[in-house]
Amino acid sequence: MPESGDLDADLNDSLIQLNSLSKHYKMGDTVVRALDGVTFSIREGEFVSITGHSGSGKSTMMHLLGCLDRPSGGEYWLDGDLVSRMSDRMLAVIRNEKVGFVFQTFNLIQRTSALDNVAVPLFYGRKPKVREAAMRALERVGLNHRATHTPAELSGGERQRVAIARAIVNEPRIVLADEPTGNLDSRTGNQIMDIFHELHRSGVTIILVTHERDVALQAERIVRMRDGKIVEDRRVDEDLRDELSAGEQDVPDRSPPPLARPAGV
Ligand code: ADP
Ligand code: MG
Repeated sequence: MPESGDLDADLNDSLIQLNSLSKHYKMGDTVVRALDGVTFSIREGEFVSITGHSGSGKSTMMHLLGCLDRPSGGEYWLDGDLVSRMSDRMLAVIRNEKVGFVFQTFNLIQRTSALDNVAVPLFYGRKPKVREAAMRALERVGLNHRATHTPAELSGGERQRVAIARAIVNEPRIVLADEPTGNLDSRTGNQIMDIFHELHRSGVTIILVTHERDVALQAERIVRMRDGKIVEDRRVDEDLRDELSAGEQDVPDRSPPPLARPAGV
């Protein structure tokens, strides 16, 4: 665990703790600071949305949180383990046990049934009763009647539900979703959000990236990123809802734009 100090109570309570976490990409002579010293924590059972312009580092952050990638610097504590120092093998074990990932583009295996897609994470864990567990996960997203269908035989919303079933089949404590409603119409997107709310009610920690104001406001807390940094971190309360409902379609960024634009554009 982290050393004791002023933040002791907070740290011990956190499921996720990032300390000056960074991710740099070398592009020829320049370095892209995709994540530039991020410090924050998330408690077990929280529902957090992450917003920010394209390129602000949201997906980089999600990949690190999901143990899909390693930081260039800083610390990532997950459930008391310093995962930023772990070997690839240990990282794969932690990822499979503790984290479920949902992507904007579903990322299903095309010629394989919904049931087998959902079962994929179970093969790594060498769990018994694979079929039963996959079926239970499909039931949780209301898709047991589609178990034998391939992704091509499913609607976009159904594909995303299969992807969520795959993410929760190992009963992870954390579900990370990167723009999960980005490719769906708003009605279908709402059905997907209902599933995240149901997971949240059952105690799962949800971290969700979105551009959409209505979606972001459904979380308990909104974290806004800009240029690889967290520029705002707020509880969702009545004040924020009022502020935003008076505003635009997307979550407004109240800091100045990076480049001056011609007036009226
Ligand atoms: P977002 O998800 O908010 O759109 P990303 O995390 O995808 O932002 O990207 C943050 C920054 O890092 C961007 O400038 C992007 O071009 C850069 N970046 C992301 N992945 C890579 C990579 N694999 N190689 C080089 N640069 C990358
Ligand atoms: Mg992204």
